[in-house]
Amino acid sequence: MKKKLLITFDYELFLGNNSGSVDKCMIEPTNKVVDILNKYAIKSIFFVDTTYLVKMNEYANSFDLAKKDFEKIKSQILNLIKQGHYIFPHIHPHWIDAKYHKELNTWSLLKLEKYRFNALSNNLKSDIFKSSIEILKEIIYPHFPNYKIDSYRAGGWSIQPFEDFKPFFIEYNIVNEFSVLPQDIKHTNALSYNFKSENKIDEIYSFEDDILNPVENGQFKEFPISSIEIDKNALKHKILNKILWKTKYGRSIGNGEGVAFKKLNNERSAFDSNYEMVSIELLTLFKIKKYINEFKKRDYFQFISHPKMLSQHNLNMFEVFLKSITQKNKIESDYKKMI
Ligand SMILES: [Zn+2]
Repeated sequence: MKKKLLITFDYELFLGNNSGSVDKCMIEPTNKVVDILNKYAIKSIFFVDTTYLVKMNEYANSFDLAKKDFEKIKSQILNLIKQGHYIFPHIHPHWIDAKYHKELNTWSLLKLEKYRFNALSNNLKSDIFKSSIEILKEIIYPHFPNYKIDSYRAGGWSIQPFEDFKPFFIEYNIVNEFSVLPQDIKHTNALSYNFKSENKIDEIYSFEDDILNPVENGQFKEFPISSIEIDKNALKHKILNKILWKTKYGRSIGNGEGVAFKKLNNERSAFDSNYEMVSIELLTLFKIKKYINEFKKRDYFQFISHPKMLSQHNLNMFEVFLKSITQKNKIESDYKKMI
């Protein structure tokens, strides 16, 4: 049997005081990682921050640099599809309140009130979902008229309560969902989710109303993000990360800065200490063996990564991982063939 390997990305700028540049946070690292994926014939999914595209499109009429950025992203999206990768929407509603710095051609996103889809009025929910689907259609359909936008990942994993999304999933024919990081729990002034569950939710399952409740023949499919047991606080990881960050080779290619969330309570999950999501940007020399061994043990393995966070070291380790697993296993990386 083929092992299921899903490589997914959140394709976006940094969502804090300094968004960074499109070239460094999106175009350049995406080209690098896709070169590696193509070499091993692995498909991937890019969840595009459509709320950013909508905002940028508004500014493109007045600002040349914003227009150029939009064109670059558009052409990368089309290129990705041409190469067999997938493009789907990813919504960060607080782009509504973003500020554009025209001299720097960067953005600040400091207002977090609208971070969660759940915090929006019903009208705004509907407008944002609609414009997100429409902007992807405008970009994709003239070139790929049969392309199907059937999958989604929520900004900040905040897909709960699912009833906020369900009517839009139905209206726009979204049937696949990619936001659940099983057993993690986080409540902050921005993102908020609780993925603790007794149910078996670490492989693909169907659901209907409750995203953590597998239902046979449910109309939606959940593709959960995989995690791995790693002692994150171990000295060796801290030291390696420190050393890497001091070098161009080990530092993220992306040149912006994220936002620091405030925790709203003291709830803790295993992700605070000894679990982490499976991710290219967390993959270092000290974890590579663990990743390869875990892959060997499992039938389903989903990576979640962000081009903006990738370093050359991460990319090299990811290539070591792919080289090893593609030699030893038959692999299915196309989500469409997993269901
Ligand atoms: Zn995101």
